[in-house]
Amino acid sequence: MTRVGEGSVVGLRRGSTHSTGSPEHADVVVVGSGFGGSVTAYREAEAGRGVVLLERGKPYPPGSFARTPSAMGRNLWDPSEGLQGLFDVWTFRRLEGVVSSGLGGGSPIYANVLLRKDEKWFVHESPLPGGGYESWPLSRSDLDPHYDRAEAMLGATPYPYPDTPKTTAMRDSAARLGLDWGLPPLAVTFASGPHDDAVPGAPIPTPSFGNLHGRPRTTCRLCGECDIGCNDGAKNTLDHTYLSAAAHHGAEIRTRCEVRGLGPLPDGGYEVRYVVHDPDDEGRKTKTSAKLLHRITCDRLVLSAGTFGSSYLLLRNRAAFPGLSRTLGTRFCGNGDLLAFLLDASDPDAPGGHRRIEGSRGPVITSAIRVGDALDGDGSAGRGFYVEDAGYPVFADWLVESTQMPGQVRRMARFARSRLRRRLGGSPKTGISADVSALIGPGHLSDGSLPLLGMGRDIPDGVMKLHKGHLEVDWTTSSSDAYFARVRATMQAISDDLGAKFQDNPLWWTRRVVTVHPLGGVPMGRHVAEGVCDADGQVFGFPGLYVLDGSMMPGPVGANPSLTIAAVADRACDRMPATRARTRRTRDDVITLPEQGGTVSTTAGRSVDATDLSFTEEMKGFVALDVDDPVRGAELGRQLGQGLMFHLTITAPDVDRFVVDPEHLGTATGYVECDLLGGQRPVQRAWFNLFTKDGDESRRLMLYRLHFEDAGGNPLTLVGHKDVHDDPGIDVWPDTSTLYVRVHAGHVPPGAAEKGRVVAAGVITIHLPDFMRQLTTFRTDGPHPARAMEKFGRLFLGQLWEVYGPALSGSR
Ligand SMILES: Cc1cc2nc3c(=O)[nH]c(=O)nc-3n(C[C@H](O)[C@H](O)[C@H](O)COP(=O)(O)OP(=O)(O)OC[C@H]3O[C@@H](n4cnc5c(N)ncnc54)[C@H](O)[C@@H]3O)c2cc1C
Ligand code: SF4
Repeated sequence: MTRVGEGSVVGLRRGSTHSTGSPEHADVVVVGSGFGGSVTAYREAEAGRGVVLLERGKPYPPGSFARTPSAMGRNLWDPSEGLQGLFDVWTFRRLEGVVSSGLGGGSPIYANVLLRKDEKWFVHESPLPGGGYESWPLSRSDLDPHYDRAEAMLGATPYPYPDTPKTTAMRDSAARLGLDWGLPPLAVTFASGPHDDAVPGAPIPTPSFGNLHGRPRTTCRLCGECDIGCNDGAKNTLDHTYLSAAAHHGAEIRTRCEVRGLGPLPDGGYEVRYVVHDPDDEGRKTKTSAKLLHRITCDRLVLSAGTFGSSYLLLRNRAAFPGLSRTLGTRFCGNGDLLAFLLDASDPDAPGGHRRIEGSRGPVITSAIRVGDALDGDGSAGRGFYVEDAGYPVFADWLVESTQMPGQVRRMARFARSRLRRRLGGSPKTGISADVSALIGPGHLSDGSLPLLGMGRDIPDGVMKLHKGHLEVDWTTSSSDAYFARVRATMQAISDDLGAKFQDNPLWWTRRVVTVHPLGGVPMGRHVAEGVCDADGQVFGFPGLYVLDGSMMPGPVGANPSLTIAAVADRACDRMPATRARTRRTRDDVITLPEQGGTVSTTAGRSVDATDLSFTEEMKGFVALDVDDPVRGAELGRQLGQGLMFHLTITAPDVDRFVVDPEHLGTATGYVECDLLGGQRPVQRAWFNLFTKDGDESRRLMLYRLHFEDAGGNPLTLVGHKDVHDDPGIDVWPDTSTLYVRVHAGHVPPGAAEKGRVVAAGVITIHLPDFMRQLTTFRTDGPHPARAMEKFGRLFLGQLWEVYGPALSGSR
């Protein structure tokens, strides 16, 4: 066993065919290197603990960010399609989300704004439409010291160039409209030293903790490329700051390591399973589900995979965490993000009537207008928000101009005419700069346009869940309509004030938004009914398991959220116990019992003229988590819309032997499908008993036992029984078509008492159309098909007759 750090070694008992051998161990494993993960890795490493940070994406040193169209086309994240790039784009029913997949989380592509959450916006029990409420278990004063620390580490400084056109345009417009304008702190280096003047392209000294990339960095050159990665290293991203400091203190940072599975260990601590993406797989389709699983155990596990990443991981591994709060997946919001554009601004007093805004000059965001909230108590009404100038790279100016086709064609024709006239007229003038300038055109559109980014207190009533194993977000703009109308009206007012045409983001026409600030899904709360974790990020019921990232926000931050995520993580690190964490789980929660007895061999002692019979069965119903009684589980599952089905091809091997075997033991292949357990999961091993007796002659049991794994690789056993028993009335159909199921933790073998903890329970049934189809699926394999069919049919009907016949023939 490999050891990392000073923590005690915790062994693992479970083996897996596709895992590497013995696991290594670390004091702390951090999943994801965004704002929550980087702060935690640094603080934990600084405290002397052995930290392993697993990040799915690649490192991006200065100079390595994609710029050409072909490199940008590959700069997306979907390893199964050969894409291991920086942008991870999600699309849901009413919302698009853009997050990052590189070392440093969102910081390589974020716009550097570090604002604190407004003091009065830490709401308590603020009702949500449709039930529930938003409640922050923290206050601004709880976070202020941690905001200070994070700002210092991230080099927060206001934008220092006072005469940048887009900045002054926002400032002047805000003044005319009576809005509150300011220069938010930015995580960008503008000057070589604290007492030096801001100057573009000056060298940035390396801090005492070094830099993990080992590349030189230079100060901001105002190129507007912050959202596609800063090739100058002027952004104080997490890799240049917290992660470099974490590495300096001994943290091991592993990139291209994507976590798939996690679960608690019987004696305390956690196991993490991950795959490693191979650089050679870039550019080619890869079956990532077949990749080797690596395992690492730890005393403390910190999930910081971002709002989508951490929610997805916990939903996929939900079966491994009994009693996890039912609020998992709730309180999702897009932090009120709304993108709009102001185009072709005008100013009657300016030369040519055109207003210069130069959206591409400066870092992406330089200034912010704050619009108050009813909570502020200053007479503001409605929910508060910010509107920020959102710049773009210089090269985008050329794209904007190229959309002006008629103007371009006119200019080219004029240029050609002028050149021809001079040639034919024998003009001696050889300088044609003026003609070339006219050919390029005035660039009014790009010069006078600016995207505006709004964000604020929308309503966190979105729900994240799994649908066929994929993450789904149920969220609409409708409950936040009044909020969005207010943001749009303010943007429109700014646009009008600057003499520009206001343009919605085209997605808005179908009431869709693009969020770059997704939040929630694993909300913090004061107790398990209110949140998944407490204000320190520790998951209720699972000591040592922490969630520290955007997913733990119980509602919108309002302002840009990164600084708040960093501050919450920093505070949590102060409060993490120094001693080793221990879970209270019992061994049976996760242990896989040794396989013993009850196995079926379809080949041992098999005669040469053996004939197998198989048929396909599909059963569907409802289950609920953390419920032991199938009937109650089915009721609850139905209310919550939590389905479970299986599709099995059941085989009676060697029918001659099957019918005389009192256990009538067969096998099955197929899959279990249940969103709670991560979608469609293949059955790894199965046992099926047809009509076994349980001592009562008037009763037969049909038993099902299926071994499978949830999406996170946690082993599970579905144990089901049909109770074939004659009760008053005609009940042969309900009896033979109703399966009472329990899903146990671990792979519980036949013959073992059902030791594994019950993860879920419910009832599934065969629907009549499925049964009719089932009748057409009977197949035989062997030399005696007719005999096999007949013997199986006799067994089936004979057993039914034994149970129901006496009543039907009037003997009982
Ligand atoms: C274009 C853009 C501009 C933005 N501008 C700003 C801004 O100016 N100010 C601001 O405050 N915020 C901004 N944001 C938002 C900000 O980036 C996020 O709020 C912030 O990064 C969230 O931090 P986090 O800790 O939740 O996780 P993230 O920063 O999202 O990090 C999560 C990390 O986990 C990794 N990960 C995910 N799943 C796994 C897995 N299974 N295994 C291993 N690793 C995994 C990801 O690759 C990622 O690196 C911007 C975002 C974008 C996209
Ligand atoms: S404007 Fe350019 S140089 Fe400055 S931080 Fe952004 S990307 Fe880096």
